Amino acid sequence: MTDTARLAAELDAADPLAAHTGAFVRDPGVVSYLDGNSLGRPLASLEERFARFVGHDWGSRLIRGWDEGWMRLPYELGDRIGALVGAAPGQTVVGDSTTVLLYKLIRAAVDAPRSAARTEIVIDDDNFPTDRFIVEGVAAERGLTIRWIEVDRTAGATLEQVEAAVGERTALVVLSHVAYRSGFLADVAGVTRAVHDAGALVLWDLCHSAGVIPTELDAHGVDLAVGCTYKYLNGGPGSPAFAYVRRELQGQLQQPIQGWMGAADVFAMAPRYRPAPDLARFLSGTPPVLATVALEAMVELVEQVGVAAVREKSIALTGFAEQALAAHVLPHGAVLASPPAGPRRGSHLTVAHPSFREVNARLWERGVIPDFRAPDGIRIGLSPLSTTFAEVELGVAALGEELARATRG
Ligand SMILES: *Cc1c(COP(=O)(O)O)cnc(C)c1O
Repeated sequence: MTDTARLAAELDAADPLAAHTGAFVRDPGVVSYLDGNSLGRPLASLEERFARFVGHDWGSRLIRGWDEGWMRLPYELGDRIGALVGAAPGQTVVGDSTTVLLYKLIRAAVDAPRSAARTEIVIDDDNFPTDRFIVEGVAAERGLTIRWIEVDRTAGATLEQVEAAVGERTALVVLSHVAYRSGFLADVAGVTRAVHDAGALVLWDLCHSAGVIPTELDAHGVDLAVGCTYKYLNGGPGSPAFAYVRRELQGQLQQPIQGWMGAADVFAMAPRYRPAPDLARFLSGTPPVLATVALEAMVELVEQVGVAAVREKSIALTGFAEQALAAHVLPHGAVLASPPAGPRRGSHLTVAHPSFREVNARLWERGVIPDFRAPDGIRIGLSPLSTTFAEVELGVAALGEELARATRG
């Protein structure tokens, strides 16, 4: 046994959350899953849940299901996800994709009366593509200017950079809580304060933090947030996203996709659109009930364990991964492209080498599954409730072997 293999065994033996790793589907062909930050594993209990949904909720209740709970689902599930990110009830709603919610909230923010004299949207140039693309589209639609923060790709937008970028022209700042590439964990409290000092609104993208990093949206006075549920909330491929709109802003903002589910009285079948006075106005169409079955199961588990405990294991896993990388991978010429351990790092690490595109393909053939992020990064995303230290050791050791093979030529 290598030193890191021995250490992994010790860490698994001492892990208070170890039992939960057995609650997920573990296919024997998957040797090491290092991409829980991109698509979380399914809970094994889902087969029964889906059967119950088909047989009972849908099959037996049929159309009555809407009155019996489905209409409230976006808000009730939203409140539960809100509680995981520090939001009091009535401010978080589930529905649409992150991309669509970004569009709705960004448009709502720049169109708000308070933004009338403000002409700029601030975003960093290494934010996730969809976030940047939506900002580009809204800026073009509304004749606004984008102020790009140029970030170090091994880190993310710092407080100093945001302070330098915002001013009286800023309408909205769009940033990710955890950078999808580097894992940089932004200073939500400091940045939100700086944006507010400039009189602007802030939108945080929580895709890579919801369910794994404690977040205090209300306490920091965050205005808007969106997040995915198929990453650390294991909602399954294409499960719906969530949006947070601070209560005081809800009546002042109007989103552009005016559908019947956002109307003041959904079943009035009114001749003209009049938005609901509250959070409901941010919905557009029929809630994606079927797509929340797996998400509800995982939210239950995260509630039971608590985000603070999940974060503790995330820190332990990423710390261990860094040691395993130092032992197996960095000696072959790869470099760490993430912040050092500490308060500025989320639950994934990126390591870079020019041969990683082919190395990643080899790993997938072996059942070792991280993901490749162009141009040269392999991302190791560690979903604490479903990942063992032994699995990280196996995967990182395999990465070292394949890199050694590739560099030998
Ligand atoms: C994963 C991710 C998305 C994905 O958006 P979809 O609409 O679900 O495709 C958006 N933004 C960030 C920061 C992400 O990490």
